[in-house]
Amino acid sequence: MDTVVTALRAALDDPDGTVVRIERAVLDAARTDKSGWVAPGGPVAVVEARSVAHVQAALRTCTALGVPVVPRGAGTGLAGGANGTEGSVVLSVARMDRIVRIAVDDEYAVVEPGVLNGDLNAAVAGHGLRFAPDPASAAIASVGGNIATNAGGLRCVKYGVTREAVLGLDVVLADGRLVSTGHRTVKGVTGLDITALLVGSEGTLGVIVGATVRLVPIPAGEPATLGAVYPTVEAAARAAAAVVAGTDRPSTVELLDAAALAGIAAYLGPQVIAETVGSTSAGGVFLLVEYDGPGATEAALGAVPRLQADGGTVHLAASAAERDRLLTIRRSFHPAMEARGRVLIEDVAVPRSRLAEMFQVVEEIGARYGVAIPTVAHAGDGNLHPNFVFEGDEVPQHVWDAADAMFRAAIELGGTLTGEHGVGVLKRRWIGDELGDDVLELQRGIRRVFDPAGILNPGKAF
Ligand SMILES: Cc1cc2nc3c(=O)[nH]c(=O)nc-3n(C[C@H](O)[C@H](O)[C@H](O)COP(=O)(O)OP(=O)(O)OC[C@H]3O[C@@H](n4cnc5c(N)ncnc54)[C@H](O)[C@@H]3O)c2cc1C
Repeated sequence: MDTVVTALRAALDDPDGTVVRIERAVLDAARTDKSGWVAPGGPVAVVEARSVAHVQAALRTCTALGVPVVPRGAGTGLAGGANGTEGSVVLSVARMDRIVRIAVDDEYAVVEPGVLNGDLNAAVAGHGLRFAPDPASAAIASVGGNIATNAGGLRCVKYGVTREAVLGLDVVLADGRLVSTGHRTVKGVTGLDITALLVGSEGTLGVIVGATVRLVPIPAGEPATLGAVYPTVEAAARAAAAVVAGTDRPSTVELLDAAALAGIAAYLGPQVIAETVGSTSAGGVFLLVEYDGPGATEAALGAVPRLQADGGTVHLAASAAERDRLLTIRRSFHPAMEARGRVLIEDVAVPRSRLAEMFQVVEEIGARYGVAIPTVAHAGDGNLHPNFVFEGDEVPQHVWDAADAMFRAAIELGGTLTGEHGVGVLKRRWIGDELGDDVLELQRGIRRVFDPAGILNPGKAF
């Protein structure tokens, strides 16, 4: 340990340990992320890089010494990918958080990786622009982390995932070389799309130290927002599929199942939901649908009969305050779950047409394993976040067994293990079931090309 720390401090010209941190509290904080998984053992140091030169020096040193490196952004991940494992060096870029350039005419921004998604959006909003990816963690997650996980969010159904918003990257490879990929033009097809390969690579191919991201105009006018309550999750899922299949594409379609809505009712008070959507929440399933841009209100009015066809009690927000109250129901999901105790936040996706079946599977699994699984879905993307509620500090075995059954069911329905949170540590054991041996070996081969010594995030992702 002393050798690694001494070598890092020499290489980074940091005799006082301002950048190369070894205090117990700092090391312990880097062992976990928001998944709740804590790496056994822990890192020997946390490098809090301030510059590209720091990242290069740290990687050169760790390659020379054969020490594993765990890249880390804001640490809000839900798969354990950024957690500092035994004997590793955590390389945090959270302090590299400058917005380098906002190119209004060309609609892109150049940022350091640690800038928070919400801060970037606040900075570009004055130009009538936005960075479209909007994970529910936008206020606390870094753009670099969004890129490394290919984060999704509430607006993906219309604006796509993070991959669609990344034009180019500056990346430090395991051996310390700095490379730039991609382009700043709207189009660009020179060579293989290494930028796309790096998006979602979960810190296994290189450390992102700069990003050129696409900005899009903020849609004109006020959004039009609908809340609907359904007697069954199947009816709500059918309604969600129907509105997405319509000619006007909604910008948000979120579904809260009965257990999720009951949890939110307990957290906010049942009258809030009854007053907001004009229906009691008891046993109900909630669907939030939003349209933006010119014609949003007409599109929302056009969606009302489609939402009612499946038995929904539908309410179109008549004011900004009413809209906010509808959004508050969805936004309260995570705090309401946290108030209940410990949860394992999961993330599977299925083709939209199989969404209702997947909800049924989750319900059956909950009953079979005796686990409460309130579930929220980015229904427009077929992406479910079942939250497994448990007691104690560690996820109990029967919860992992229930999750195992759920992952296998998602794959059988033609879906995927992870829609947006990534594989990290927590889903690694199932990855072969989805990818198959040949594709898994291909991916590991690509990893070896980028990182022949295998020092970047070993034991994570694939
Ligand atoms: C309340 C809550 C709501 C959430 N909602 C969503 C949601 O709606 N959609 C969604 O997709 N996610 C969501 N997340 C998960 C999480 O916020 C995202 O995965 C986010 O993109 C992680 O960013 P981060 O900066 O925290 O990355 P970290 O947690 O620090 O790292 C995540 C992964 O990326 C790698 N990494 C980070 N930075 C770099 C870098 N610069 N170079 C190379 N690798 C890097 C790490 O090694 C790790 O594998 C939510 C999390 C919480 C707590």
